[in-house]
Amino acid sequence: MRIAMIGGGYVGLVSAACFAEFGTEVAVVETNPHRLAALQEGRIPIYEPGLDKLVADNIEAGRLSFGADIAAAVRGAEAIFIAVGTPPRNGDGHADLTYVFAAAEQVARAMDRFAVIVTKSTVPVGTGRRIAEIVRHARPDLDFEVASNPEFLREGSAIGDFMRPDRVVIGTQTERAGGSERSQEILRRLYRPLYLIEAPILFTSLESAELIKYAANSFLAMKISFINEMADLCERVGADVHDIARGIGLDGRIGRKFLHAGPGFGGSCFPKDTLALMRIAQEAGASSRLVEATVQVNDARKASMGARIMSACGGSVRGKVVAVLGLTFKPETDDMRDAPSIPIIHRLVENGASVRAFDPAGMDAARPVLPSQGVCYCEDAPDAADGADALIVLTEWNEFRAISPRRLRELMRGDVVIDLRNIWEPDAMADAGMRYSSIGRPDGR
Ligand code: NAD
Repeated sequence: MRIAMIGGGYVGLVSAACFAEFGTEVAVVETNPHRLAALQEGRIPIYEPGLDKLVADNIEAGRLSFGADIAAAVRGAEAIFIAVGTPPRNGDGHADLTYVFAAAEQVARAMDRFAVIVTKSTVPVGTGRRIAEIVRHARPDLDFEVASNPEFLREGSAIGDFMRPDRVVIGTQTERAGGSERSQEILRRLYRPLYLIEAPILFTSLESAELIKYAANSFLAMKISFINEMADLCERVGADVHDIARGIGLDGRIGRKFLHAGPGFGGSCFPKDTLALMRIAQEAGASSRLVEATVQVNDARKASMGARIMSACGGSVRGKVVAVLGLTFKPETDDMRDAPSIPIIHRLVENGASVRAFDPAGMDAARPVLPSQGVCYCEDAPDAADGADALIVLTEWNEFRAISPRRLRELMRGDVVIDLRNIWEPDAMADAGMRYSSIGRPDGR
């Protein structure tokens, strides 16, 4: 079986490599010349654990190739996946579908046989049908179908998520007689290795599949906003948010995941997908009050982090050296999109701090989005802490957990540690003589 993947970013590249690992021949089309050059030279332009080996193995096996020539890629493909970006459109929260529609048109012009055009990108309800119109308009002669196969992988554990998913969702056109069966048959064959491990595969309409992705991300974002509100409450009443998370999460109806209090959600998906769902609901004349509250709570939380840091630093950071550990929006990725570190570091620098920053994978992606002056990029975490008056943890990379409070005390000039990811124990910090503040937990002894 042969397929094409339009877009070789976090989702397109991982999906392509995993499909190739399933034994499918995958041609990836990438228009970003830097990303394409890297891929063609055997380098991986993003950081994702395990991806370098998976890509190398499948190139070696002759199943995975990269190019800019869409016609060559779609020739003979039974399924053509669109995995391009859908960033928020300026101002109104709606997903920007420019790249998706451009890709659909390019695909239409390049197709040479029946194929199913599948959106892997997260797209608003109705996009699949608009893609069908675009393709029909560009190539009235073409025999094709459209399907939606939203992706649920998480950066940092993307390969495992793709290979052992909680579920696969496939939405197909249902109104054409027999129409959806052709798409379903192709996609069933493509995902056959997952049938063998009994991953649930859910067939739905196009609209349902499109909405499932937004509903899933908004629900997860809502869990995060909920536990963040609980963390604030814990701080007021002397409770511990870790105990609250465990105490409620062990209830199977609630579940333990996504109950980690922190500086507010960021990243390339939750902020834009919650806004897009609000917009979809608004356009459909439906209410989305829970999602609106989720977004408001998160915006307020992100904005409050600066004040929290200032207050922990004694009211001002002017003239102080502040170490920042972790820049990416979460560990095990180099993705800086909508990372909480961006507004926080801008605020620190605007208020006169000099920042010593370190991230294990995100430094290159961070440079263009952080202030051009006032930030020094360090060799490692101890180097960042060296001589700092205060230290802030923004991303919970495992290697930071390994640094003991006593070591921090030796390295730093000051004694203020603001841990927005709760990676250290308050008591251990207090024992080391640090003034430690974390999220939703009582201070150490
Ligand atoms: P990305 O920006 O990393 O990748 C998109 C890639 O598509 C870019 O490399 C871009 O150059 C390329 N591209 C754009 N137009 C093209 C065209 N016409 N032909 C060929 N290549 C083209 O984005 P991403 O993080 O991979 O996200 C892609 C989609 O998947 C988005 O809709 C996103 O919401 C969704 N998604 C992302 C994640 C995630 O964790 N990143 C998870 C699930 C779903």
